[in-house]
Amino acid sequence: MTTPMTTTTYAEAHHGSMQPTVVEIDGFRGRLINASHADYDVARAIWNGAIDRRPHLIARCIGTADVVAAVRFARDHDLEIAIRGGGHGVAGTAVCDDGIVIDLSAMRGVRVDPAGRRAWVQGGALWGDVDRETQAHGLATTGGIVSHTGVAGLTLGGGIGWLMRKHGLAVDNLLAADVVTADGERLRASEDEHPDLFWALRGGGGNFGVVTSFEFRLHPVGPTVLAGPILWDASDAGEVLRFYRDFIRDAPDELGTVVKFCTVPPLSVIPEELHWRPVVMVGACYAGPIEDGEKALRPLRTFRTPLLDLAGPKPYVVFQSALDSTVLHGWNYYWKATHLPALRDDLIDVIAGHAFSCSSPRSYVAMFHLKGAVSRVAEGATAFGNRQASHAIIVHAAWRPGEDFGDRETAWTRGFLAALGRFREGVYVNFLGGDEDPGRVREAYGDSVFDRLADVKSSYDPDNVFHHNQNIRPGLSAGVSGSDGAGDT
Ligand SMILES: Cc1cc2nc3c(=O)[nH]c(=O)nc-3n(C[C@H](O)[C@H](O)[C@H](O)COP(=O)(O)OP(=O)(O)OC[C@H]3O[C@@H](n4cnc5c(N)ncnc54)[C@H](O)[C@@H]3O)c2cc1C
Repeated sequence: MTTPMTTTTYAEAHHGSMQPTVVEIDGFRGRLINASHADYDVARAIWNGAIDRRPHLIARCIGTADVVAAVRFARDHDLEIAIRGGGHGVAGTAVCDDGIVIDLSAMRGVRVDPAGRRAWVQGGALWGDVDRETQAHGLATTGGIVSHTGVAGLTLGGGIGWLMRKHGLAVDNLLAADVVTADGERLRASEDEHPDLFWALRGGGGNFGVVTSFEFRLHPVGPTVLAGPILWDASDAGEVLRFYRDFIRDAPDELGTVVKFCTVPPLSVIPEELHWRPVVMVGACYAGPIEDGEKALRPLRTFRTPLLDLAGPKPYVVFQSALDSTVLHGWNYYWKATHLPALRDDLIDVIAGHAFSCSSPRSYVAMFHLKGAVSRVAEGATAFGNRQASHAIIVHAAWRPGEDFGDRETAWTRGFLAALGRFREGVYVNFLGGDEDPGRVREAYGDSVFDRLADVKSSYDPDNVFHHNQNIRPGLSAGVSGSDGAGDT
């Protein structure tokens, strides 16, 4: 309920001296939260606690009509727009200073058609919402590996996860999207309707409009899968990576793996004597029969003697939230990322040599194995770039509020990325931070996809209304780097 205080229009409040207590947007039925509202600080907070931005207004939408009203209001008042899905983007583009946040966090509905193997997912849903509803029918689609990540931002950037090598990226399973454009029009984008927009939404991020609903293809998965991490001591990292390189060369598409270099989190499933010990860990999920998974994983599980092997049959939906408590909301985060080719010895030496030089026990490095179905979709068939890369690596600095790790951890991530320099093969746009070098957004797509995205942008958002993101400027297709990165204006 809104506090019954002075009612004023946005323009009166913003341009006059009076501090607004209640703001109205014609036809808006959700919640409008401004600086005088008791929930303002909670509503403007996002996953990355290092981001501290103060929008004039947070428009928490409860339906597409609210999104339309909020977009039109923002345009009428010349307000900066940020779009918030799950609020997980490390760059913090889900919230802006001064302008309006079009906040979809109250729109988390998921509807499943089990017979048709389809799911309709609202634009503010989290992956935990999708997994819970689809797994009730033994179905799933490729989503992120942390259940509190947003579906919208993750999907619009591409969407990598445990199932991608078997079932493709999130965008490879996207069948249609409902979009509110920069003019406040409602469009449906699919292979048959606005196919250029549909192409751009499958990797081009939040540049083309506010997506209020996604339609995904589903696949039979589990509901019990063979999954879990296998841990070795940090001093074995080089040898484990060499073995892993050979192991994944012939791995079946069903086997999704992520290598983590970290200190062991103090989780109840892990013996206390291992807590905080630096380890190299291979997380695995086999999207097929348990017995086949046992066979596929055996060589890895018997390499040397692991410190701990937690791989075993477990509900997919449980495995999907196993990492949630290691990346809590409100901690400070800073990332650097790149795609990498197959692991050569000299690349392994760089990774093993830098991975454990962080200072915060909450920092880590995660390296996803791509290939499989990801690389069998033609480059340029969707707007997701660099499909032939073997790995996507994130150097993930994390420290709690009040801890004094910021400068050291930032230096560690930058130094690590610099050391990977000669091996870099593009980057995943969703792993880019808020202070990237000019040209990194182009790097995420490659020239031809980037230029085509700029053309589509000029059709659907010629004024670059949606620019608080990893920005693609309209029509800059003549070989110019059309972006300065997140929050580009
Ligand atoms: C802990 C963690 C784990 C992750 N794991 C994975 C992973 O396994 N796989 C993977 O692919 N990525 C992963 N990511 C990266 C993730 O894809 C991005 O952070 C993504 O932006 C999250 O989506 P969101 O909706 O929460 O983002 P938000 O922060 O809400 O939004 C980020 C941007 O996305 C766009 N956007 C969001 N919602 C909409 C919408 N409804 N319509 C239009 N544009 C919108 C906007 O441009 C916005 O600025 C992870 C991130 C974190 C923090």
